Amino acid sequence: MEKRQELYAGKAKSVFRTDDPDKMVLVFRDDTSAFDGKRIEQLDRKGMVNNKFNAFIMTKLQEAGIPTHFEALLSDNEALVKNLDMMPVECVVRNVAAGSLCRRLGVEEGVTLTPPTFELFLKNDALGDPMINESHVESFGWAKAEDLAKAKALTYKVNDVLKAIFAEGGMILVDYKLEFGLYKGEVLLGDEFSPDGCRLWDAKTKEKLDKDRFRQGLGGVIEAYEDVGRRIGIDFDA
Ligand code: UDP
Repeated sequence: MEKRQELYAGKAKSVFRTDDPDKMVLVFRDDTSAFDGKRIEQLDRKGMVNNKFNAFIMTKLQEAGIPTHFEALLSDNEALVKNLDMMPVECVVRNVAAGSLCRRLGVEEGVTLTPPTFELFLKNDALGDPMINESHVESFGWAKAEDLAKAKALTYKVNDVLKAIFAEGGMILVDYKLEFGLYKGEVLLGDEFSPDGCRLWDAKTKEKLDKDRFRQGLGGVIEAYEDVGRRIGIDFDA
């Protein structure tokens, strides 16, 4: 496999073509952004930590029967993935109220949500990723109803798998965002799963161990990501 030209640079990752049109290389950079890219900083080791974190989680999800685009870890900050035709939507499941849900509905942070909620957001920085519903996705052709239904079912299945993994490490999976795409007609989990795209709290102290440390200027961002990783069995020196 040969890495070729850069196709796209997102806020924290870059995507490169390869000599195989079905495969891409994801490069995890040290850039960390918040507030729709209005604040960007470089955090040392972040690319490596998120790349290894994502590889570990994607492997666990695949073992649990959730199809993902992940193929292999290539280096400290690169992963080989399948080339998906991405749906321009973010699927969010929440087990506990936090973030935009609290701002939107005036709910107190920390309220348990039973059953967990499912929300959709349009990926559009210029519009600030507005909340949308399932009928918008179908009417605007962002995805077929049946593919969205599969993505929704997989998003909930991820919750069962990951809630258990983080609980064993003494943490609460508060919420998370997933993105899906199509590969030869099949709906696969794409993008990444790392503490950049989820909320994790220590189960006892409720300390925040995710990107909210960056958003809220709490410091110790990468130290927290590494702590989460070690607590679920990731060896960042491997
Ligand atoms: N999230 C994300 N990318 C986004 C928006 C949200 O990864 O563009 C994640 C976020 O980290 C959290 C979950 O999705 O784990 C729910 O985010 P929320 O809607 O509360 O928005 P926020 O408060 O992060 O703006």
